[in-house]
Amino acid sequence: MPLSGGDRKALTKELAKARAMTTILATRSAEKRVAGEALIREADDLACQSWNERMWSDGGPIDPSPSIDQAINGGYAWLEIRCSRCKTPRAVDLAALPHVPTTCVHDLAGRLRCEKCRKAGKRPIAELLQLAPRRSTAGEAP
Ligand SMILES: [Zn+2]
Repeated sequence: MPLSGGDRKALTKELAKARAMTTILATRSAEKRVAGEALIREADDLACQSWNERMWSDGGPIDPSPSIDQAINGGYAWLEIRCSRCKTPRAVDLAALPHVPTTCVHDLAGRLRCEKCRKAGKRPIAELLQLAPRRSTAGEAP
């Protein structure tokens, strides 16, 4: 059934309104997402700072710790470690690790092996020191 002139006008108006709403809602959604991501980044940053404070003040417990992706997202892409046996320091680029990003930082203690000790046939765990925003000069990776 063809629409009357008045109905067609009303429909055109409703469609224009719906199209305008599409843009408004999409813009609002994008804004909320940006704000949400900023909040998550802030939360990740604080989680890293909290963990660092615990490591600095008491040296542990290392568990719980942020996940690798949380640390990177929070601006802490480097993990400073030290071999528990020979005390060689090392800075680990979290983004370059082969581990899944949801792996918690404390789970790396048993997985990051000291090259020097490995060659000597030892498998000491790594002491986790601090999460850092950039590579420290002290702990050059081998
Ligand atoms: Zn070592």
